Amino acid sequence: MQQPLFDRVAIIGIGLIGSSLARVIRRDNPTTHITACARRAETLAAVRRLGIADAVTDDPAEAVADADLVVLATPLSAYADVAARIAPALKLGAIVTDVGSVKEQAIADLKPVLPSGVHLVPGHPVAGTEHSGPEAGFAEMFADRWCILTPLEDSDPEAVAKVTALWQLAKMRVVTMPAEHHDKVLAVTSHLPHLIAYTIVGTATELGQDLQSEVIAFSAGGFRDFTRIAASDPVMWRDIFLANSDAVLELLQRFSEDLTALQRAIRRGDGETLHSWFTRTRAIRRSIIEAKQA
Ligand code: NAP
Repeated sequence: MQQPLFDRVAIIGIGLIGSSLARVIRRDNPTTHITACARRAETLAAVRRLGIADAVTDDPAEAVADADLVVLATPLSAYADVAARIAPALKLGAIVTDVGSVKEQAIADLKPVLPSGVHLVPGHPVAGTEHSGPEAGFAEMFADRWCILTPLEDSDPEAVAKVTALWQLAKMRVVTMPAEHHDKVLAVTSHLPHLIAYTIVGTATELGQDLQSEVIAFSAGGFRDFTRIAASDPVMWRDIFLANSDAVLELLQRFSEDLTALQRAIRRGDGETLHSWFTRTRAIRRSIIEAKQA
């Protein structure tokens, strides 16, 4: 049997992402000992039922004792508290990684608290669904998606290589980039689209009762796609907008200007502007399909 990447892994936060990673490790490195940590007894009971961990606990410090790899997969707002609790219990030489959707804030919460001799390798598997919790996870969720690692200047190359290998086990394509760049890119590709979806679906729910039922009945006209995005976890998305506020606000300014330009084109009957805009965006969709990210 292939040598496992890690002997003992602790996953702090065993929801959609954490449980999907646990399933990957179970599938490909079955001898690895996995400890899962969550707050609620229901979550821990579900993990036991699913058989995706060898041990469960609600104590993060207990979970990380003896772990070679610690994966933080809680909402971003829990990072500072979890980091403070695990720091004294971490093994010398342990690798700490995470899956959080905003990297500068994650590093700011983790780096100052982790003891020297522990290797921090921040990461973000860019994969997911609108569902939450350990029951919603599945190993194939990461396949053919990108995982972005944002190592620090002093990150241990060997630790980075091991975290890279972990996500490659999950069939991800792994890239590294500075945390600040990650946050700007994700503001465009993920955070702004979610904000727009939350806005549109929110506006529709404020409409009168009659119109609202028709909105639901005829949702296939485009609205339905927005409702899927706007069904994403409220805690996670609250945390993302608070943690990546600078990049999102800057982008929102650009978006408002473009929206005003389209508004003006519609008011002036300027079909040429509309047509060339929509032609350009259609080409972007084609290139995403060609890159197999659709
Ligand atoms: P999720 O399904 O809601 O799971 C969150 C998990 O964290 C639950 O097991 C929860 O336990 C646990 N948790 C919450 N607060 C905790 C605390 N203080 N101490 C210990 N455990 C705690 O969330 P998710 O979608 O997997 O997201 C987790 C992380 O992945 C987030 O940082 C998010 O930014 C990132 N991410 C998400 C996606 C996505 O599409 N969902 C994609 C990429 C990255 P309880 O059940 O006991 O509360």
